[in-house]
Amino acid sequence: MTKEITSFDELDLREPTLKALQRMGFTAPTPIQAQTIPVMMDGHDLIAKAPTGTGKTCAFGIPLLECLDPDCTDIQAVVVCPTRELCLQIAEELRQLAAFRPDVRIAAIYGGQPIGKQLTALKKNPHIVVATPGRLLDHMGRRTAWLGNVYTAVLDEADEMLKMGFIKDVRRILNATPADTQVVMFSATISRDVMDVAWEYQHNAVEISVAAEGDNRPQIDQYGLMSSGSRRLEDMTRIIDQMDYHRVMVFANMKTSVRQLCDRLHKQGRSVDCLHGDIPQSQRNQVMTGFREGKFEILVATDVAARGIEPDQFCLNESCHNMTRDDLIQATADLERNPHVAQHGENQCSDCHKAHRASVNMCSQCHNDAPIPEGWISAADNTALEKELDSLNKA
Ligand code: ADP
Ligand code: MG
Repeated sequence: MTKEITSFDELDLREPTLKALQRMGFTAPTPIQAQTIPVMMDGHDLIAKAPTGTGKTCAFGIPLLECLDPDCTDIQAVVVCPTRELCLQIAEELRQLAAFRPDVRIAAIYGGQPIGKQLTALKKNPHIVVATPGRLLDHMGRRTAWLGNVYTAVLDEADEMLKMGFIKDVRRILNATPADTQVVMFSATISRDVMDVAWEYQHNAVEISVAAEGDNRPQIDQYGLMSSGSRRLEDMTRIIDQMDYHRVMVFANMKTSVRQLCDRLHKQGRSVDCLHGDIPQSQRNQVMTGFREGKFEILVATDVAARGIEPDQFCLNESCHNMTRDDLIQATADLERNPHVAQHGENQCSDCHKAHRASVNMCSQCHNDAPIPEGWISAADNTALEKELDSLNKA
């Protein structure tokens, strides 16, 4: 690596981009930005591994904007991401970056929004399309989106997207781009699927990896709690009450368990609402706004539906049952890198009752005699649990 880059001025960016960055309040590139921007601007394929919250959107967004030709009316860059929330977030950040480039057009294409509105956006010949895989394929099938002149394809949250079963879709999308398209992958982890796609679609890719450290590392206490199937709800509400949490997210892995859990909490008289894939987009937005504004205290959601929301205090993962010890360790790692857990929340939290953020993984013991994984506590072990809650309360 050559000299370390510490300011945006060293990156050879155009004046409007520098101005936009200034307006966004960004004074210096984050490490992943400093490393990836020159590589992408040189046209290399890239695999960038960096934890959540390290500024990956601008890391690919800046080079996309720098390299595009506003006079060309074809789609030049496509950003594929796993969820509509992320899709909207990315499009918004790109629009901010392009604030002083009135000639640049960006379209967000995602499932759940009426197709008509997106047709209008696509008819305006966007330079950059940010999309979820299914809806993009839909438009490609209708010939309302043509990728034959795409210069750069970005897969954001590549590991997550492939893990969610989008691998075929992603392949079909990449197959529709020219063979020499620059393929760029951003991911928090480099999974087997990510490697497969890299192997198939990238050429001499540059690999960049940024570790979570210091300020990068989310300030979140994390612990695991072994409970039993029938006592999980009780153990969960006990923690919520004892810790006096007022903004809690609970993740469950299926729509049915989300609905059930929501019902049960409601019956206990708690203010609760839920999010899952069957809830229409307009209503989802309402639920999310309600949660952000503190209109109810507990949000139960499937992991996927809840992407992009930032709980202030507490996040509880109720989804791992019947898991092996390795699964548990993986689940803890997954949770740690979830964007809604990992975002820093100090500022948004000034009026919160308590600015404490913690996450709990809950799990039922598959066999009563199964060993408790290291670092996990058993809900049945009252002393250990009290001690843990006590230390969290003091944190
Ligand atoms: P990631 O995709 O790695 O999870 P994001 O791109 O969503 O991270 O960025 C996380 C947050 O950091 C966002 O709020 C973003 O606006 C902000 N951010 C990005 N780049 C910078 C920078 N250079 N300086 C300050 N804040 C930044
Ligand atoms: Mg991101």
